[in-house]
Amino acid sequence: MHDHSPNQHLDPRAPLVLDTRDLPRRPGAMRVVQRKVPAPADLGLELIGVPQGADLDLDLRLESVSEGVLVSGTVTAPVSGECGRCLRPISETLSVPIQELYAYENSTTDETTEEDEVGRLQGDLFDLEPALRDGVVLALPANPLCRADCPGLCPECGVHRDELPADHSHQQVDPRWAALNNLNNLIDSAPTEQARAARGPDHEEN
Ligand SMILES: [Zn+2]
Ligand SMILES: [Zn+2]
Repeated sequence: MHDHSPNQHLDPRAPLVLDTRDLPRRPGAMRVVQRKVPAPADLGLELIGVPQGADLDLDLRLESVSEGVLVSGTVTAPVSGECGRCLRPISETLSVPIQELYAYENSTTDETTEEDEVGRLQGDLFDLEPALRDGVVLALPANPLCRADCPGLCPECGVHRDELPADHSHQQVDPRWAALNNLNNLIDSAPTEQARAARGPDHEEN
């Protein structure tokens, strides 16, 4: 979700605030921006995302169009997280396509669209962060896996199924016997008169 606060001034030193001063405001004019910037905090989802401060590789084309600046290209970033089935660490590289129009102040687009539909230039500056966040969040898996066929953990003992034999199982106790076992445990841990009676008159204490 874009969050453009109209009265919030962009900081030209912020890593994801880009300057279009070098780009002539003549439709067709073009500039390439290639640089590494540190990733902002909380770029991603709960289980997987771009670590804060990691290198974001920007490879962008800034193009003057009649209403503003069209930004397109890719952002490449390392991603780390954990497998949703087995919690093993995941690390990979993500390339996110970016395409966003930043309208000139007071252009028709500026006057006729909401800020959450189309980005805005502030003077010569624009903030790539909202578009970048949307792109990264869309590209990340909601249920990350260490590999597509990760078998996960045994729910009984918590060991990864990769490390267990194929016939691994925990003795399934018939519920009727389970009730009897519980009774025996009770008797063993609390040898009261009642329990002795339950074991029968011939039972020998030892
Ligand atoms: Zn896994
Ligand atoms: Zn197990």
